[in-house]
Amino acid sequence: MREPIIEARQVEKFYGQPGGNRIQVIAPLDMSVYPGEIVALLGPSGSGKSTLLRMLTGLATPTGGQVLWHNKPLHGPCENVSIVFQSFALFPWLTVLENVEAPLKARGIDAVKRRKRSLKMLDTVGLDGFESAYPKELSGGMKQRVGFARALVVQPEVLFMDEPFSALDVLTAENLRSELLELWEDKKIDTQSVFIVTHNIEEAILLADRIVVLGKNPARIRTDFRVELPRPRDRKSPAFTILVDYVYKVLTKPDAGSDFQLAPTTTTPILTRERPKYQMLPHARPGGIAGFLEILSDHGGHADIYHLADDLMFEIDDMLPTVEAAVLLGYLTLFEGDSEITSEGQAFVEADILARKDLFRAAALERASLIKQIRRSLETKADRTLPDEFFLDLLEEHFSQEEAKLQIETAINWGRYAELFDYDSKRERFFMPEEVAAPTEENSEENEVGHGL
Ligand code: ADP
Ligand code: MG
Repeated sequence: MREPIIEARQVEKFYGQPGGNRIQVIAPLDMSVYPGEIVALLGPSGSGKSTLLRMLTGLATPTGGQVLWHNKPLHGPCENVSIVFQSFALFPWLTVLENVEAPLKARGIDAVKRRKRSLKMLDTVGLDGFESAYPKELSGGMKQRVGFARALVVQPEVLFMDEPFSALDVLTAENLRSELLELWEDKKIDTQSVFIVTHNIEEAILLADRIVVLGKNPARIRTDFRVELPRPRDRKSPAFTILVDYVYKVLTKPDAGSDFQLAPTTTTPILTRERPKYQMLPHARPGGIAGFLEILSDHGGHADIYHLADDLMFEIDDMLPTVEAAVLLGYLTLFEGDSEITSEGQAFVEADILARKDLFRAAALERASLIKQIRRSLETKADRTLPDEFFLDLLEEHFSQEEAKLQIETAINWGRYAELFDYDSKRERFFMPEEVAAPTEENSEENEVGHGL
């Protein structure tokens, strides 16, 4: 058995909130990085990928657990690593060459050596001729090449990358990915392993020898497996699309339990686990959910979500919340990556505007805990109003401050659409005006009788 370079043992991260609450962003997890592999850490935005990367490199201290490098606990930033950032993070006042030389200078390498090494590295990444240019004169793709050169010039044992292609246009990103793979395969870069953070499924499958998928709130490892596809990998090949579907399934499964998705034979599982937590409203708008269901209904009521996203030219990551919301409301079932509209979903699609609101109201009250909680709380107040802080405090027990705010925002959208409650943004209060007071489950029959009279 190979020795890991990095070993995270039960690492966990809490962030403190201004109110004094502590939110668990990463639940205790184990993870190792071995020599000779490209590992992709895949997860939705806000899941804690950057936080985990920072802990593995020693830039952040875990709240619990330990990070070991070659079996020794890490104290402070690790010296054998470089990080490539999405934002490039170049020094604007330095030339391309000076940017690449900077980390060597910081490590006390003499001027002649560092110039020689930097020039060679610029050559390797295709920046020959751009030595004296300044970052602002370069395109995004060229800037990221400088980012790579600067990271690689110190010959890091592990090269870390945090969404390095996310700020680039599609073609530039594709090109840079293949060039990076070529350098890695041809052993032109002097690094033992590559650790790449991404939210892009295809990117992970194109690049990685191993993929670790993170769930959210808090982050746990949903699956960790080896990709056994030969390189170069073809996005259009059946084996590739099967793998995309599999990862997509893992990402969309709300609370993956022990009944875990069967992995395709082109993978080797490493470990799997995930436990459910407080229900989280997906950040989707009712109008978006309706539009999605209409399209699905036009497709005969079922479709492979991944291919549907592709057809609609949606980033799968952007469509995820809408799909999750439809599932939460009982309008959609997901099975083996295929989505199927339910009879409730079909009824919703066929209903007119007012009837849709009625259906949405009933579904949200029955299935969306936060919506139900807000409505019930307002009903207990004589004046039918409560400050948003009341709910923010509750939510911050479970989510980060940022996420709690997003939960409130989504709840306002849903509540308004369903005419269950409204929100006064000036006073930062939820309220339930008499005219929008909809029948509740308990008294709906009486109300209906009342209407009939
Ligand atoms: P990702 O990289 O997957 O998008 P991050 O690791 O950046 O996720 O963030 C994970 C969660 O932790 C988010 O909810 C974010 O708001 C929160 N978070 C990140 N950094 C801090 C911080 N310094 N203080 C408080 N919360 C933070
Ligand atoms: Mg990040």
